[in-house]
Amino acid sequence: MSSIVRTRIAPSPTGFLHLGTARTALYSWAYARHFGGQFVLRIEDTDVARSTQDSVDQILASMQWLGLDYDEGPIYQMQRLERYQAVVQQMLAAGTAYRCYCTPEELEAMKAAQEARGEKRRYDGTWRPQPGKVLPPVPAGVDPVVRFCNPPDGDVSWEDLVKGRITISNREIDDLIIMRPAAGGGPDALGVPTYNFAVVVDDWDMAITHVFRGDEHVNNTPWQINIFNALGAPLPLFGHLPVILGDDGQKLSKRRGAVSVTAYEENGYLPEAMVNYLARLGWSHGDEELFSREQMVQWFDGEHLSKSPAQWDAAKLAWVNAHYLKNTDDATLAPLVAAQFARRGIAAAIDDVLARRCGLFKDRCATTVELADWLTMYFADVTPSTDDLAAHVTDAVKPAVQTLRGKLEAAEWTRPAIAAAIKETLAAHGLKMPQLAHAVRVLVCGRAQTPSLDAVLELFSRQQVLERLQSR
Ligand code: GLU
Repeated sequence: MSSIVRTRIAPSPTGFLHLGTARTALYSWAYARHFGGQFVLRIEDTDVARSTQDSVDQILASMQWLGLDYDEGPIYQMQRLERYQAVVQQMLAAGTAYRCYCTPEELEAMKAAQEARGEKRRYDGTWRPQPGKVLPPVPAGVDPVVRFCNPPDGDVSWEDLVKGRITISNREIDDLIIMRPAAGGGPDALGVPTYNFAVVVDDWDMAITHVFRGDEHVNNTPWQINIFNALGAPLPLFGHLPVILGDDGQKLSKRRGAVSVTAYEENGYLPEAMVNYLARLGWSHGDEELFSREQMVQWFDGEHLSKSPAQWDAAKLAWVNAHYLKNTDDATLAPLVAAQFARRGIAAAIDDVLARRCGLFKDRCATTVELADWLTMYFADVTPSTDDLAAHVTDAVKPAVQTLRGKLEAAEWTRPAIAAAIKETLAAHGLKMPQLAHAVRVLVCGRAQTPSLDAVLELFSRQQVLERLQSR
């Protein structure tokens, strides 16, 4: 085996990049980076009916958004059909694979008979060559599949990087199909490999040393190990990551909320926060909760991977995101918030004022969606509630509001000058700051609670403030 660590992520483009796959990608990436190795992106698009270009685009965009850069790829399996074909030929010649001419009807009947006998469903070996065995005559008009000659006895055993020693008996597994004929293809059409076969040829050809993937693949690994062995290929190490459970303890799924990386981008999460949160979902480094991508790479050596399922915790993710939001430069937040506004049909210029608005409100937000919610007051009319108007814009305060408005008409439009105008107004009317500030906030911002009034007002245009304070 190559001494260079080589990992890969191999998503199927039958949908967006799922959070579970994103976590596997992150671990694979971090592992390669930690050991100065290489990380490969492979697109497993052999499920032709369900694979789409749109999914490929989304997967690539999500990888980029998360900052998971790859050294090779994307490599598309459908562009490697000739290679799989060549390996199949080699296996047929070596007797480690054979053609099976069973029709779907025969396989159905086989399954029904096994079920009737209370047996596990498995291929019965009709076409498996054996010394001294006479195979049935090859039927006309049936395109054969190719099956792998799985060893009939013995165990397959490996030291899983996450789960420890796993042993599965060969008696549990049958001769799996490794290649199907091309749908509607002629005699020269290249067959399409099945997942368990293509994955082995690829991991071999791409010199993958460490395979991290979801534990739904544990049962596939014995087949894959047997195929590696049949090919005389060096075995990678395998690490199967436990599932991610939703807030409700059920497997995280679309029905239970957002499961795509894209959805989190749209919902105002930052890639650094996602990376940090996903990293902790099944791995730990002491009791560190907040760490940078660089720290993760420094620490991620394959130890301390959790054996038990991780629980998705939306509140914790929001907390992590709030931390990153607070620590992100205002100028970096501006285009992200502008993108949120664009989704709402509001064109917000990406400028210094927007950056300063972000800076003023970011401490109280968990996402850029919430930040955009707050900043909407700068871009669209506000409608104060009747309760707020009744509670804060009282007859006792209204004259002071007009005094302030008058002063603001002439004031220099800076925070100190606005602060001075507020102070003078309070003195002139004998009011306390909250009385005036609440009223002005309700009228200008549409709500009674905001950061410091002078700072908030300065980031409106004078015109906006004067209009909203008009004749109240
Ligand atoms: N295409 C497979 C999946 O998305 C890859 C599994 C593997 O990493 O081997 O589940």
